Amino acid sequence: MKKVIVVGAGMAGLMATRTLHEAGVEAICLEARPRIGGRTHTDNSLGVSADLGAAWIHGPIGNPFTPIAHELGIEYGETDFINRSGNVVQAYGKKGEPLDMVEYTAGHYAGAAAFALQSGSLLVDPPESAPQSLADGLASLPRPEGMSQAKQFGFDFWVDLHLTYLCAADRETINWNLMDTTVRLPGDDYFIYGGGYKAITTHLADGLDIRTGVEVTQIAYQDSGAMVESSAGTFAADFVVVTVPLGVLKADVIKFSPSLPTKKQEAIQRIGFGQYEKVVLRFDDFYWPRDKQRLISFHDPAENEPQLFPLWFNIGYYTGEPVILAYHAGALARFINEWDDETLVGRATEALRQMTRNETIPDPVGYVRTGWERDPFSRGSYSFDHVGQKAGDRDTLRQPVGRLYFAGEATHPHFNASAHGAYESGIWVARQILKNYYGNVTFSI
Ligand SMILES: Cc1cc2nc3c(=O)[nH]c(=O)nc-3n(C[C@H](O)[C@H](O)[C@H](O)COP(=O)(O)OP(=O)(O)OC[C@H]3O[C@@H](n4cnc5c(N)ncnc54)[C@H](O)[C@@H]3O)c2cc1C
Repeated sequence: MKKVIVVGAGMAGLMATRTLHEAGVEAICLEARPRIGGRTHTDNSLGVSADLGAAWIHGPIGNPFTPIAHELGIEYGETDFINRSGNVVQAYGKKGEPLDMVEYTAGHYAGAAAFALQSGSLLVDPPESAPQSLADGLASLPRPEGMSQAKQFGFDFWVDLHLTYLCAADRETINWNLMDTTVRLPGDDYFIYGGGYKAITTHLADGLDIRTGVEVTQIAYQDSGAMVESSAGTFAADFVVVTVPLGVLKADVIKFSPSLPTKKQEAIQRIGFGQYEKVVLRFDDFYWPRDKQRLISFHDPAENEPQLFPLWFNIGYYTGEPVILAYHAGALARFINEWDDETLVGRATEALRQMTRNETIPDPVGYVRTGWERDPFSRGSYSFDHVGQKAGDRDTLRQPVGRLYFAGEATHPHFNASAHGAYESGIWVARQILKNYYGNVTFSI
C-alpha cells in the first residue's frame, strides 16, 4: 500500500491526513510541537477556554466549522464587529472619555462606504499612478466633511486599524490591488468559547496516526517517492504533503532536495506573513463594562511610542468570568514582543486603568501571552497579500512538485489567513493525490 507523510498537524495537516485515511490510504502525520492544532491553540489555565490562535469562526454561513461546533455541542456566540446592534462596542477617546457610540458607529459605516467608493472608482477610472499599498489607498480616500471627533475615530478605525489587524500587517506593506482577492464568508463571526478550537481539532484528529514531537528537517523527493528526515529518524513515502506555515518556508529551515523550483521560492518570499499577538488577563472582578464585547481605545500614546493597547476583547461577555484580552498586529505586535512578561502585563493593566479612568484596578490574578513571531514552528501569525506580490503567487505556492504537495492557509486562493481556509486546503491536497494516483475513490467527508 502507498504511504503518505503529512508534515504538520495544524488544521490543514489534520484534514489532509483525515481525508487520506478515510479513503483507505496509509497517512502518517509528523508534528514538531508536542501538541496538535498548530495556529489553533486553546489555553485553559485561566479557568476559561482562551484561544491564543484562531478564536472565531469567521463568517459562519458556509463555514465547515459551524456544523462541527454544533454537532460537538461547543458553545459559541456572535461577535458584532461593526457594532450593527449599536450597543456591544464601547470606544474611548484620547483621555479615556467614553465616545458617543451612535456617532462612532456611523463612522464605521462611513468608512466602509468610502472604502467601497474608492475601490470602485479606481477600477472604473484608474489613475496614472495607482495605489500600491493600503497606505497609498488611504491617502486619497474620500472623507466626509464635518465629521464629529467620535465619527472620525470610527471612520479611521474601520478603514485603517481594522484592516491592518485583519491582515496582521502594516498599512505600507498591504497590497491594495489584491485586497479583494481574500473572500469573507457571510454572517456575524462566532466566537467559540466552550472548549475552543481544541475541541474541534481533537475531534478531527480522532483515529489518525499523528506523531507529535517529530520535527522534519529535510525532504528528498524524486519521481518515484520521497525520504523525509526528522528528529525521529527517516520515513520513506510515496507522497509528502507539506503544511508548515509560510513563515517556516520563508526561513528555509526545511531543506528540500532538489531545491524547490525558483518560481515557487519567489512566491514564498513575495507573499506576506504577518504578526498578531494576544495577551489574556484574568482579574478578580470585572473592571470594565461587562455587557460590551469589545473596547477600543484611542488614548494618547506614551512619548516615543506608537499607540499601544488599542483593541480589547471581553471574553467575560461570553463566559461570565472576568477575563479580557488585548491584541496587537503588525508593527505594534513586533513592538510589544520586545517586552518581558512583567512589562507587558504591567503596561496592559495600566492601559486598562487609563481607558476606563479607574486607577484602582488591581493587578491581574493570571495571564497568558502569545509569541507566534518567535515560535520556530510558526514564525508569525498568518499570511497577507504583500506589496509586490503577484496575483498567482498563492496558486504557485500550492502547486505540487512531482510527489511533493503543499497545503496550509497561505496556499488557499481566497480563504487565506483563516482556519477554514487551512481546513479546505488540506482536503483539496488529499483529493489531488487521490485523483492523480489512486483513480476513482469515494469519500465520506
Ligand atoms: C493570533 C492568531 C489569531 C487568529 N485568529 C483567527 C480566527 O479568529 N479565525 C480564523 O479562522 N483564523 C484565525 N487565525 C488563522 C488560523 O489560525 C490559521 O490560518 C490556521 O490555523 C493555519 O492552519 P495551517 O494548518 O495552515 O497551519 P498551522 O496551524 O500553523 O499548522 C502547521 C503545523 O506545522 C508544524 N510544523 C512547523 N514546522 C515543522 C517541522 N519542521 N516539522 C514538523 N512540523 C512542523 C507546526 O507546529 C504546525 O502545527 C489566527 C491565527 C493567529 C496566529
